[in-house]
Amino acid sequence: MKRVLVTGGAGFIGSHLCERLLKEGNDVICLDNYFTGSKKNIAHLLDNPYFELVRHDVTAPYFAEVDEIYNLACPASPVHYQYNPIKTIKTSVMGAINMLGLAKRVKARILQASTSEVYGDPEIHPQTEDYWGNVNPIGIRSCYDEGKRCAETLFMDYHNQNNVDIKIIRIFNTYGPNMNPDDGRVVSNFIVQALQNEDITIFGDGSQTRSFQYVDDLVEGMSRMMQTRHNFTGPVNIGNPNEFTILELAQNVIELTNSKSKIINLPLPQDDPTQRQPDISLAKKELDNWEPKIQLREGLQKTITYFDTLLKDQ
Ligand code: NAD
Ligand code: UDP
Repeated sequence: MKRVLVTGGAGFIGSHLCERLLKEGNDVICLDNYFTGSKKNIAHLLDNPYFELVRHDVTAPYFAEVDEIYNLACPASPVHYQYNPIKTIKTSVMGAINMLGLAKRVKARILQASTSEVYGDPEIHPQTEDYWGNVNPIGIRSCYDEGKRCAETLFMDYHNQNNVDIKIIRIFNTYGPNMNPDDGRVVSNFIVQALQNEDITIFGDGSQTRSFQYVDDLVEGMSRMMQTRHNFTGPVNIGNPNEFTILELAQNVIELTNSKSKIINLPLPQDDPTQRQPDISLAKKELDNWEPKIQLREGLQKTITYFDTLLKDQ
């Protein structure tokens, strides 16, 4: 039995990961400061004797004997990471230093949840891992983008200088159950708006694109990356390459919810990337032919069912 630490474990992705790790027979420590995460996401795991919940902020050191660390702690939605940008960059950078220090000390393998945001507003399309990105270092998204880029640097430097066993994945827009209704990201916003027959808020004209991945596909990719051969560090893109405009997403959500909502257009936020699509050739090659299995409408349907129940219970 392995002991696995998941930082940000009470968040959207972290809660799915904790559940899977327990099912696989691991002993799981879920560490979170509940900034955007919620105890509700992991409440069903609390009775499991192999699950331990720790309130802790990754900007402070944490010590535990563990075999593996998944470092997910960081707000991921623009609304939340821009709320306190200094805290966001501290979380990425100091969180990485603290968790890498722990990995070094106890010789744990450590995986970093990096992001497609390291490519910024990309000038090459689709994005391959060897693209260095186009990030504004002083814009409203930079606390997140540059924090994650610095975390990648720290991971590589701890690997090269101290031989820490690292893995880096770059996650592309992922959605699914356990997203907070107030998360602010596009899929949860549109679904919550559609279920309540409220206006669907498209920022800009809706021609910008994203490639949406269902959370189960991500967790499978993450798990394979953690178990992959010793000298493959990544970074590796984990995302669904099927690309949609934001307008197409809105139309799909309205159709699947039979909503009476109207689409309205609001101003496009500064530095909003115009297009994003992962090239997943490396993930396929290195992660035993990994590729996403759940396509947009199926994933949306599952997420709609989740939010429908949640909103009715409120
Ligand atoms: P989320 O906001 O639901 O989860 C983040 C979790 O980290 C929350 O539980 C939050 O309370 C916790 N957290 C934040 N700051 C912390 C701190 N200082 N100390 C301890 N815990 C802290 O978001 P998510 O979508 O589940 O994202 C999880 C990770 O995956 C993040 O690192 C994010 O950057 C990365 N990621 C997600 C996506 C996506 O599309 N969902 C894409 C790229 C990268
Ligand atoms: N977006 C939108 N309406 C919303 C929320 C987001 O049109 O209510 C747009 C946003 O401007 C961006 C895309 O949807 O172009 C994805 O936004 P999200 O915040 O989900 O993720 P990110 O921009 O980080 O990829």
